[in-house]
Amino acid sequence: MALLARAPGRVNLLGDHTDTTGGVVLPMAIDRVTELYGTPLPGWVRLRSDDLPGVVQFPLSDPSEAHTSPAWGRYVAAVAAELSPWGPLNGFDAVVRSTVPVGAGLSSSAALEVAVAMALLRDHHPVDRPDPVLLADVCRRAEHRASGVPCGIMDQLISLVGRQGCAVMIDCTTLEHQAVALPPDVEVVVRFVAHRTLAGSEYAQRTASLAAIEAIMGPLRLATPDQAEAIHDPVLRRRARHVITENARVRDGVQALATGDVAAFGAAMTASHASLRDDFEVSTPAMDAAVTSWLSQPGVFGARLTGGGFGGCIVALTTPGALAHDPNVWTVRAVDGAAGSHP
Ligand code: ADP
Ligand code: MG
Repeated sequence: MALLARAPGRVNLLGDHTDTTGGVVLPMAIDRVTELYGTPLPGWVRLRSDDLPGVVQFPLSDPSEAHTSPAWGRYVAAVAAELSPWGPLNGFDAVVRSTVPVGAGLSSSAALEVAVAMALLRDHHPVDRPDPVLLADVCRRAEHRASGVPCGIMDQLISLVGRQGCAVMIDCTTLEHQAVALPPDVEVVVRFVAHRTLAGSEYAQRTASLAAIEAIMGPLRLATPDQAEAIHDPVLRRRARHVITENARVRDGVQALATGDVAAFGAAMTASHASLRDDFEVSTPAMDAAVTSWLSQPGVFGARLTGGGFGGCIVALTTPGALAHDPNVWTVRAVDGAAGSHP
């Protein structure tokens, strides 16, 4: 069986809950990848997974999710449905193999969507290198269709535009993306804390709060801290404060990396955690405890929860090996996105 497509998971170093209001984020694609191995099957998708049971099968002429069980097939069918306007797609009979842990907050869903999209587009004429922004948006819409979560574009875009040795600053308004080299003498480590709970409903509530704030004061990405403090409702004030300060932390963090100031970058990560905990209220006691414990160890520059919150992973920037004694820690390396390996 040939490798049809490959797409990495991701960890976000700074900038959570900024993407849905067109702010900035700083993720990196990681050396945990989802791959599709298989053979051509004209007109059909037939897919199994090493990770989850069931066979996903549907004709490309009718990629309606309603036809698909198991549940994970909704992501596959949604990608095919969103891609169908792109012209004839290449069917396949394939298996999913992944080193991205499923449901841990490292974006196995986006890695699956992007890998499926790349497999459907292989040999696609005339687009042999699809525009990563357009393709990421197809996959974001597929995620929304499949999961009902009105997510931003970060997870899908970083899976496509990741760069080896770099984080990537994405402006979620212009969708410009700029690789930012990570210093050579640091490590990025991740630890899974707990499966997410409430993620869907709370995420939708937070997104709705941000829309309510923007209806009053205009785009959050352009707002100043003073504008947040002037909001009467204390909950909305905290939500706005998180987004405004988080956008600033991403920009400051990029500057810190440019000058090799890993201590300043780490401080921005730790401040981001406090903001996600106190202002955006998406942390959990277990995540707070895990971050606090890491921060007490020598060689840890900064730590925070990463991703949507309510479970998932925490991430830290450390000196090499600083947390190697913790058996639950994964060191992750920044890799190229799926576009770089398009067959
Ligand atoms: P995360 O993206 O953080 O890993 P999500 O809940 O967003 O968690 O996505 C996980 C879902 O994506 C799974 O429940 C499954 O439907 C689908 N998925 C991801 N990876 C795989 C895989 N390797 N095989 C089958 N389905 C997968
Ligand atoms: Mg996901």
